[in-house]
Amino acid sequence: MKILISNDDGYRAPGLAALHEALKDLAGVEVEVVAPEHNNSAKSNALTLHSPLYVQEGGNGFRYVNGTPADCVHVALTGLLGYRPDLVVSGINNGANMGDDTIYSGTVGAAMEGYLFGIPAIAFSQTEKGWSHIDAAARKARDLVQHVIAQQLVGGPPFLLNVNIPNRAYGELGAFEVCRLGRRHAAEKVIAQTDPRGETMYWIGSAGAAKDGADGTDFHATAQGRVSVTPLQVDLTDHDGLQAWRQIAGRLAPAERG
Ligand code: MN
Repeated sequence: MKILISNDDGYRAPGLAALHEALKDLAGVEVEVVAPEHNNSAKSNALTLHSPLYVQEGGNGFRYVNGTPADCVHVALTGLLGYRPDLVVSGINNGANMGDDTIYSGTVGAAMEGYLFGIPAIAFSQTEKGWSHIDAAARKARDLVQHVIAQQLVGGPPFLLNVNIPNRAYGELGAFEVCRLGRRHAAEKVIAQTDPRGETMYWIGSAGAAKDGADGTDFHATAQGRVSVTPLQVDLTDHDGLQAWRQIAGRLAPAERG
């Protein structure tokens, strides 16, 4: 059983070290880390196509890439590793990746890159920034990884799980709750400032607060102290909208003549 570990906070992040530490001694498991050199949060599945990527080894033994989380997993899977891992895990992220965050998240992006290659993948995040109780979160992550291995889900059809863990001591963490994504309000306003040369510069504002945090969502589960587990899919097709759009498109363009 070979597990590839990546993240989006960079190869020196405490969440990555804790996840590696928690998984490396699992029986029959070999782990390897390929992670970004720098913080690449909110890079989603971005790939670097217009500059070369270099892989180096850090003092902590982790290999790092001057690219995005998806670059790391992509490079690892398409040549760097020289073998196909059985599982890709990402994190543990410094902060929540719930609801709409999953679209932007580099933590999810790294896992999704594995999933796109047909490999089961799990993205782990802590709900609050600052790494409090990171060892408890890593232990919970290990519990889930052990469980999916024991259930023989690794090696079968790929799946993509998004997991958010409240920052609590291990004994105070609730059960795993399988739930859907909630929704956030639109992001806060952009922050405009003037740079030393008089040009206006903009900082992207904070993510919005939970808008749909109803029972059955990741926001709700983690607010109750439970660990949210959301199976994700990648197909963005609006299946319910297909028929209506076929009719609209049919009125737009004249029918082809044979
Ligand atoms: Mn991050």
